Amino acid sequence: MAKQCLFCPQPANSAEDVWSSWILEDLESNEPMRITRGKIKSEWIDNSRVRVKAVCKKCNNGWMSDIEGENKPHMFAMMNDKRTVLEPVAQKLLTRWAILKAMVIDGSSPVKRTPFYSECERTNMRPPLRALPIGTLVWLGRIPVRSLHVGLGDTFGEISNVPKAFHNCITTIVVGHLVIQVLTMHVLPMFATTRIKPICKPGAWDVNLLDIWPAFGNKTWPPAFSLILKGPPWEHHVGGLITRWSIGEDITK
Ligand SMILES: [Zn+2]
Repeated sequence: MAKQCLFCPQPANSAEDVWSSWILEDLESNEPMRITRGKIKSEWIDNSRVRVKAVCKKCNNGWMSDIEGENKPHMFAMMNDKRTVLEPVAQKLLTRWAILKAMVIDGSSPVKRTPFYSECERTNMRPPLRALPIGTLVWLGRIPVRSLHVGLGDTFGEISNVPKAFHNCITTIVVGHLVIQVLTMHVLPMFATTRIKPICKPGAWDVNLLDIWPAFGNKTWPPAFSLILKGPPWEHHVGGLITRWSIGEDITK
């Protein structure tokens, strides 16, 4: 039986490029792409045209393609290292793009891993609702070397001595000079009304990153400092960004 589309009840009959052709054409990437999923080892894929069969043609060519189009102007500028002022509307559009990528990677994992995003969270992304999953935070950074990377991982933590009270899914995406990190937190229903602020490892996040979701005022990319591929100084290392949520502790106030 054909797999169901991640976003609707149709069969997943469309092979969706993880990277849209406009991104690949711009990067002219023949470089190996580093793709990491969950806790499996990183693998190097020589072909940057990585396709996953997880969505239907109608979704892929319809609203998903619209999200690509809506984000092209500001993403194209940042991928090519051009200073960009992002108004709250653009921040929301970019958040939708990044969450969509996170959901496709999350839902097409080749390893035995239950997808993090629920069917409800995924289908709510479609118009007319266009709802973003609650408990989501998004940051932007800059990397000096043009790259192409996507990585996804899970972390769990306890609240008031209840183990695995929250589950975070963290997706880090690098396209050109633009770095995007998405964190969505799921909490057990008993903590649904508790205000929980995710806590990460200490770092120079306030100068390395711009918070774009929830959106609040205009943001100018790039942030004050760029992330670096090789340390030191370690506080600006991109590896630190990817693993910064790998802690779990009681974070209730
Ligand atoms: Zn569909």
